[in-house]
Amino acid sequence: MSDSLDDLFAHNRAWSARMERDRPGFFTSLVKQQTPKYMWIGCSDSRVPANQITGLEPGEVFVHRNVANIVVHSDLNALSAIQFAVERLKVQHIMVVGHYGCGGVQAAMEGARIGLADNWIRHIQDVRDRHRVMLESLPPEARADALCELNVAEQVVNVAVSTVMVDAWSQGQKVSIHGWAFGVHDGLLQDLGLSVDGDKPIENLYRAAVQRIRYKWSAPSPELAVRAEPHGNDSASTVEEPR
Ligand SMILES: [Zn+2]
Repeated sequence: MSDSLDDLFAHNRAWSARMERDRPGFFTSLVKQQTPKYMWIGCSDSRVPANQITGLEPGEVFVHRNVANIVVHSDLNALSAIQFAVERLKVQHIMVVGHYGCGGVQAAMEGARIGLADNWIRHIQDVRDRHRVMLESLPPEARADALCELNVAEQVVNVAVSTVMVDAWSQGQKVSIHGWAFGVHDGLLQDLGLSVDGDKPIENLYRAAVQRIRYKWSAPSPELAVRAEPHGNDSASTVEEPR
């Protein structure tokens, strides 16, 4: 085995020993069950590790990741993970987490051909096309970041309208879906202010989120706008093409 893989096993043994020393019984309690409150749906990008970013330990977050954090209505992998999280684990929160500088979003923005993944990224191009007028009105340097957030909003809706969520909410289960974005450049999570719990019409929440995204990235200094006003502003008066 190569030296680098040996390193991984060495680190693993050290981590296991450290955990058991600091918290005796940690692993034996994990064996019995997992009771995570959270489900994370994020990008496969190695710079966006769910547990490390949120300070959560093994057993605390149920994770599904794919290229560019997309939830497609016919993706049995994602839907099975969501169903297991909601029906069996009874998670209370599902976070759909995009990240700035996402290669999948960038490729969709540019219409770049990268291979088989073109067919997967086509889903983000659909988001891009739906909001083409708005994206073209933004400063060019802000468009990929705005599309990252629009993609998150879109995927929050896709989770919310899945049969899993519709059934869970109809049975009175308390579970919310949230849209977040992670900054690889600063290590910080942004709450995009789109949270869905089955009570309010999702159409209105989605439109408000799209307005906030447009307002935020129309600002002269997008980077500053992100930091100063992570929840955006509802003052924009018109709505881009509704879903
Ligand atoms: Zn990504």
